[in-house]
Amino acid sequence: MNVQTQIDKTLPRATEHFDVLIAGAGISGVGAAYHLTKQCPGTTFVALETQKTFGGTWSTHKYPGIRSDSDLHTFGYSFKPWTSAPIASAAEILKYMGEVIAENDLGRHIRYQHTITAASWSSTENLWTIDAVRNDTGERLRFTTNFFWMCQGYYRHTEGYTPEWKDMAKFKGPIVHPQKWPEDLDYNNKRVIVIGSGATAATLIPAMAKDCAHITMLQRSPTYFRTGRNAIEIAEELRKLQVDEKWIHEITRRKILFDQDAFTRKTFEEPEAAKKDLLSAVEAYLGKEYDIATHFTPKYRPWRQRIAFIPDGDLFQGIKSGKASVVTDEIDRFTEKGILLKSGKELEADIVVTATGFNLSANGDIDFAVDGKKLDFADTVTYRGMMFTGVPNLVWVFGYFRASWTLRVDLVADFVCRLLKHMKATGVKKVTPQLRPEDHNMPLLPWIDSENFNPGYMMRGMHLLPKRGDKPEWQHNQDYWAEKDEFPNIDLEDKAFVYSG
Ligand SMILES: Cc1cc2nc3c(=O)[nH]c(=O)nc-3n(C[C@H](O)[C@H](O)[C@H](O)COP(=O)(O)OP(=O)(O)OC[C@H]3O[C@@H](n4cnc5c(N)ncnc54)[C@H](O)[C@@H]3O)c2cc1C
Repeated sequence: MNVQTQIDKTLPRATEHFDVLIAGAGISGVGAAYHLTKQCPGTTFVALETQKTFGGTWSTHKYPGIRSDSDLHTFGYSFKPWTSAPIASAAEILKYMGEVIAENDLGRHIRYQHTITAASWSSTENLWTIDAVRNDTGERLRFTTNFFWMCQGYYRHTEGYTPEWKDMAKFKGPIVHPQKWPEDLDYNNKRVIVIGSGATAATLIPAMAKDCAHITMLQRSPTYFRTGRNAIEIAEELRKLQVDEKWIHEITRRKILFDQDAFTRKTFEEPEAAKKDLLSAVEAYLGKEYDIATHFTPKYRPWRQRIAFIPDGDLFQGIKSGKASVVTDEIDRFTEKGILLKSGKELEADIVVTATGFNLSANGDIDFAVDGKKLDFADTVTYRGMMFTGVPNLVWVFGYFRASWTLRVDLVADFVCRLLKHMKATGVKKVTPQLRPEDHNMPLLPWIDSENFNPGYMMRGMHLLPKRGDKPEWQHNQDYWAEKDEFPNIDLEDKAFVYSG
């Protein structure tokens, strides 16, 4: 009998205790670990990650061309300079994260192949009990922690979202979701249809176009894209002047954020002008004769969905070269040979790729309970998109969509470290967000205003998410430029925080 089979998988081993337990080792979890080490030295912590390695999104997705759609000066951390081109491949991002882990000795705090299955808060003990399973051995483990820092992202990593279309089974070729890319998929000289026109489709298409016989982007409705050189002029200039990379990182971040702020304001204040800016950049690649009105002019206001950056216009170059094309139509059903469209046209293909998005998973598929009662996050109200009414000692990192996610990883981490130090200094063990008397008549609304931001996975999963109020304290307003000033000034003695223990 080997050691593995001797382990009794039904009983957790002796409980281990940590001051803080982090769920996940993606860009948020690694950032949390870094900030804890620097800002709260002496705090014991562990990060449990279900995958075999760090990176989260960047290790899950392995489709051709996988890259960021926002710049790495701001998707990278504030504390570690990004020194290459702003739009980066997954491999480059993983290398950067690997350096953060190695340079700060964070590896000893991360346990891979550990899936958190349950989290239960006890107000008698003022502790979370966290149950986990080791994916490699099946062993059940139990941890206790004073503070649960949820860095498990927002979508299910095990499978993407594929709608059910009629007669899918009739199609003779493979139907592939980018989140589960088969390593051996041979698309050389094949005809490929990519369903969808989000950032994933826009990445896949130029990467595959050179090898396919032809690749078609099939979209129900168009998407906005930004395009330009994969370079930031100010960073290039400063580098020529041999300025220290730390300075270049900070100055370039400020420049990018300044420009993004100006553009975001424009999308709200002068949506037509912002739309014109975006569309003329596309026209510069495709020419006036291309039907931009049909294929690249969305009906919604710019920035209501994330706008992906297309480095060097590579998607448009693929279209211009004739290797790629766009069809804007609806799917009626699949056929043996491809897809029949509502217009009556049949698109033939050898491979269909469904770049149709994610399945929202707000809580990492963890069973939560507070004082013996099952917790449904949809019954709570969020405190600034990171804490939840009635849920003690817990923070969730949910980043930005109109700016890089990681900007919020840093902001939330500063807040958590300040909160932990405050609790230590005042000798309390428990902090629970709670609506203040003046908040009781506040309308409770869905997590996000669909007029403001409405990607499909959010709309599909909104009923699972916590509620928002109509005051900045009780919502995740997706506004980095407001939060960067508000977060450091959050009054920890505000009545929204109830301390005890
Ligand atoms: C293809 C793609 C490209 C993107 N590009 C950008 C971009 O350019 N800029 C940008 O700002 N945003 C981008 N995003 C959004 C992106 O997901 C976030 O910016 C960021 O990577 C999220 O990091 P995270 O660490 O919070 O979550 P994730 O990357 O989702 O990592 C969460 C980790 O938690 C682990 N986990 C989950 N549940 C459990 C559990 N129960 N137990 C243990 N571990 C668990 C997961 O395995 C995962 O490793 C992109 C998303 C995708 C899918």
